[in-house]
Amino acid sequence: MILPVYLYNHPVLKKKSIQIEDMTDDTRLFIQNMFDTMRNANGIGLAANQVGDTRAITVIDISDIDEDEVTKPMVVINPIITASSDETIDQEEGCLSLPDYRDQVTRPVSIELTYCDEFMREKKIEATGLLARVLQHEIDHLNGIYFFERVSPFRRTLAKNKLKKIERGNIEPDYPYFQQ
Ligand code: ZN
Repeated sequence: MILPVYLYNHPVLKKKSIQIEDMTDDTRLFIQNMFDTMRNANGIGLAANQVGDTRAITVIDISDIDEDEVTKPMVVINPIITASSDETIDQEEGCLSLPDYRDQVTRPVSIELTYCDEFMREKKIEATGLLARVLQHEIDHLNGIYFFERVSPFRRTLAKNKLKKIERGNIEPDYPYFQQ
C-alpha cells in the first residue's frame, strides 16, 4: 500500500524515532508499505517518520543505481553509526519530503553501522559510496535532521525560498503526500 509522504515542515520530521524491540505482523506490513511508497516515488531511501511513523525503521533500495555487490534492498532497524571516516565527500542529495530541491551535502565517505535487519538479527557493517550516503541521510531522518541542515550556511541561505515554497504547499510532488 502506498502511503502519503509527509513534507517539510511537518513536526513528525523533527521527531527522534523510537527503537523497536521486536518484529510484529503490523511492523512487517508497515515495512512492505514503506517499500511500496518509496518505489512509487522513485526514491532510493525512506525513513518511517517520512510517512508519519516514529518507529526507528528505514528502507533502502539502490539496486537500480549502484552496480556494486551490496545492492540488495535493505531494511535497517534501530541503526546506530559507530564510526565515520575523517575523509568527506560532497554529493548532491534530494529528499521525498523536500520535493524539487536538491543540494550539495558534505558527508563522511564511509561509516560503520550497527542495526537490526527485518528478522531483528543484529548486524554490523561498513558502508561506503552511495550506500554510506543514503544510510547517513536516512539515519539523519530518524534523528529529526533534514539534509539541508548539513549544507553550508551560504547554500542554506540560497535554499530559503525553495523551503518556504514547500512549506506553503506550492510544490506538488507527483506521489501521494501529506502537507499539514
Ligand atoms: Zn530524505
